[in-house]
This record gives sequence, structure tokens and C-alpha cells, in this order.
Amino acid sequence: SAALSSMAEERKISFDADDAALLVEELRGRFNLGRTKSYEWRVTQLKGISKMIDEREKEILEALQKDLSKPEIEAFLTEINLLSSSCKLAIKELKHWMMPKKVKTPLLTFPSSAEIVSEPLGVVLIISAWNFPLLLSLDPVIGAIAAGNAVVLKPSELAPATSSLLSNLLPKYVDNAAIRVIEGGVSEASALLVQKWDKILYTGGRQVGKIVMAAATEHLTPVVLELGGKCPTVVDSNVDLRVTARRIITGKWACNNGQACIGVDYIITTKDFAPKLIDALRREIEKFFGKDPIVSKDTSRIVNLSHFTRLTKLLNEDGISSKIVLGGQTDENNLKIAPTILLDVPEDSLLMTEEIFGPLLPIITVQRLEDCFNLIKSKPKPLAAYLFTKDRQLKKKFIDNVSAGGMLINDTALHFTVPTLPFGGVEESGMGSYHGKFSFEAFSHKKAVFHRFFLGDQSIRYPPYTPTKTKIL
Ligand code: NAD
Repeated sequence: SAALSSMAEERKISFDADDAALLVEELRGRFNLGRTKSYEWRVTQLKGISKMIDEREKEILEALQKDLSKPEIEAFLTEINLLSSSCKLAIKELKHWMMPKKVKTPLLTFPSSAEIVSEPLGVVLIISAWNFPLLLSLDPVIGAIAAGNAVVLKPSELAPATSSLLSNLLPKYVDNAAIRVIEGGVSEASALLVQKWDKILYTGGRQVGKIVMAAATEHLTPVVLELGGKCPTVVDSNVDLRVTARRIITGKWACNNGQACIGVDYIITTKDFAPKLIDALRREIEKFFGKDPIVSKDTSRIVNLSHFTRLTKLLNEDGISSKIVLGGQTDENNLKIAPTILLDVPEDSLLMTEEIFGPLLPIITVQRLEDCFNLIKSKPKPLAAYLFTKDRQLKKKFIDNVSAGGMLINDTALHFTVPTLPFGGVEESGMGSYHGKFSFEAFSHKKAVFHRFFLGDQSIRYPPYTPTKTKIL
């Protein structure tokens, strides 16, 4: 019982619903006083984040190394550099984004004018995931600040070094009176979720996505849900095989070792072409990661033992090991799994029914490539879909027929880096989007403002409805 009460004490010390309520009240007070609204405040915070990323690069890389043994270049390209560009873009475009947009009005309302005014929502909550723990935390924060909100960020407890770094560093670079980091796991997230927020952006899995949405419903709070799913990659036979293989490998094993929401989940290709594709993947994997890729320092490790166990369970399902055509080695001590390719696993296997989120890659073969459409449609709509082909007709058919959060032709994952494209899911892969201006919009309300003037006050809408007025109509 002593242990229990000390645990309770610890919990109390950490953060509970009362603390969360106080926090929101405090931030809402500041928001209501207009603290976060001005262009100057927003730009100052954005510059603060940009400065933090520049000055603390080394510490950030160390944290990412600790949490995921992320290779430095990969961490730089997929987290630091993307964030830095995102911040710079927001600083450059903010004035333009904030400007009211004039719109046309119907003749019937003459004389009049109309504009759309972007206003901040208030106090917003961002709950992020562990796989790109810096990027997925700060990128939404950039949008929330650009839009003029007070923000609470809850990073993932599964990337503790990055979470703690964020909580230590952010107050040194931004206005702590309106921007806060709350560290913790389920209990802290739950304490936060019972509060009334003006928007919640959640990044993570579907099950928790439902919990977040249910909590938001209580206060009619709008949500952006950045979820995941199984991202298909369709490979035609007319491709540049070497380039295709390299780009698939990059979108799988050089993208947090498959632990990425837009990572390649499974490949669909024809029976005839599969052996050539596998050979090319084998060759390029060896070039990228050496003869024994499980010891390569150029891929991240699996985040923790529970995810390692989850992944080995996928491999150990009945009959699955016989489908391995490359890799399959696991190293529990170092939480490493070799890049692993499996050919034609059953459609009802865990590998084909669950989001893999790791270095295992099933290849499903079909008679004709066009059969890919039925297979993709038989699963929930993915966050991303990839196609490798030179065939213009097939590209068009893919774009017209496959529903996905986003799609990329002849590469993988790279669409995430294009700030002029919205990033988000559809149906089970999420709702709402962000990146670039879409981040500003995700955290703004588009207020419709209509202006009328006192001159020319003749209107057929005023009674009495005389025969002359009826005739005009
Ligand atoms: P996770 O375990 O880090 O959880 C995400 C967040 O939810 C964390 O901050 C965690 O503390 C919180 N959380 C966990 N359980 C909770 C609960 N019961 N109540 C309230 N909050 C809770 O991340 P994860 O879910 O393992 O992330 C992997 C999933 O996220 C995959 O499905 C992946 O596809 C998806 N993902 C999506 C994107 C995207 O941008 N769309 C990016 C990365 C990951």
C-alpha cells in the first residue's frame, strides 16, 4: 500500500485533470487579452523556434539518436531540415496569410463588399507521436502559432529524450505564457483531453484517434487527426528498376526503418515482374546497408521492446517464415530487425491486415497490374499510395481510382516535403490536413465578414410587397 500511495503521489506530482484545467484557464485568459494575436508576437515565436532548431541541432540529433538511433543525415533531412523550412516559410508568408481576402458579392446585395478574415481559434492542443518526435511535435505548433493561438503540446512518452528536450528548450525560445509543453503518457493526455480546447491536432494510431475524437465531441471541439494505415506501392514492369528499388528502399528502411506513417507498407506487382524487382531490391539494399544490414548504422532501431515483439509476432505467424525472400533476422538486445521482404503472404495474415510500421515488406503479386485497384479498395483508405510506372494511362487511372490521403507517382514519402500540398488522411487514415499554408488554415477560423453601406437603400426585400416589386422579380 505504501508503494501504491507513493505511485499516487507521483501521479499527483506529474499532472492531473485539475492541473490541466488550470493550465487551460491560464492560457485562455492570456488569449482573451489578445496576447497571441498580433503579427509581431507570432513572428517572434516563429523566429524563436527557428533559432532553437539552428542553435540546438546537436542536442536534437543526440535526442533522436537516443530515442530511435536515427542516423544523423536521416534525422537532419526528415526532421530538422523540414522543420526549419516550415518555420522559414511561415515567417516569410505570414503577413500574406493573415491578410483578409476580398471576395465578390451578388448583385442583389449592391452596394456591398465582402471579405474572409482569418481569426485565431483560441487555445489548442497538439498530441504527437514518437516516430518523428521533433517534426510531428513542432510542425503543428508552427501552424498554431502562425494562426495566433495559445498552444499546449504533449509529445510522445515513447520518445522520452526528445520529449524532455522539447520541454526544456521550448520555454527558452518562445513565450512560455502562451506556449507550453506537457510531458507524459496516457494519464497526462487523458487529463488534457477532458478540457475544453478550441482545436485538437492528434498524430498517432487509429484506436487512440477514436479516444481523442470522442473526448473532443464532449465540447464540440474540431479535430485534425493525422493517423496511419497501410500505404500500398504499385510497381509496373516498364520502370527504371534501379531507381525504383532505391526509392522504395528509401521510403521503407531509410525512413525511420519503416516506422513511418507514409512508409511503404506493401508492394503490389505482377507475378512475372516480382523476381526482377526482388533482385533489384536485394542488390540496392546491400549497397545501402551492407551485406549484413541488421548491424547497419544507417537505419533506425525499433522504438522499444513492445513494438519489437509486435513486429516479430507478424513474422512468427503460422507459415509466414516460409514466405521470407530476404532478411528475417532479428536482434532483441539491440531492438533491430533486418530489412525483410516476404513474397505472397496470405491476404488474411497479420502482415496484410494490420499496419506494419516496421522493416517488414510484403510483396503481393497479381496476374495483371490493374488487379491492384481491387486489392487497394478492399482495405481502409491509406494515408499515402505510391505508383511506379511510365504508363500515362495507368497514372491517370491510379489518380482517378485510388483514394488516399495523398499520392506520389514514381517515388515514395517525398510528397510530405512539399509545403504547397496539404498533408493529411482520408476516412480511417485521418481528417483535416496541415503543412505550409494549410497549417495556418487548420488553426484559423475563416470568418465571413460582409459590409453594407447606407447609401442607395432601395430594396425589393423591404415590405410592403407591392405589385411593382413582384413584377421586378
Ligand atoms: P504513440 O504511442 O506515440 O501515441 C500517440 C500519442 O497519443 C502520444 O502522445 C501518446 O501519449 C498518446 N496516447 C496514447 N494512448 C493514449 C490514450 N489512451 N489516450 C490519450 N492519448 C493517448 O504513437 P502511435 O499511436 O504508436 O503512433 C503510430 C501511429 O501513428 C501509426 O498508426 C502511424 O501511422 C501514425 N502516424 C501518423 C502520422 C501522420 O502524420 N499522419 C505520423 C506519424 C505516425
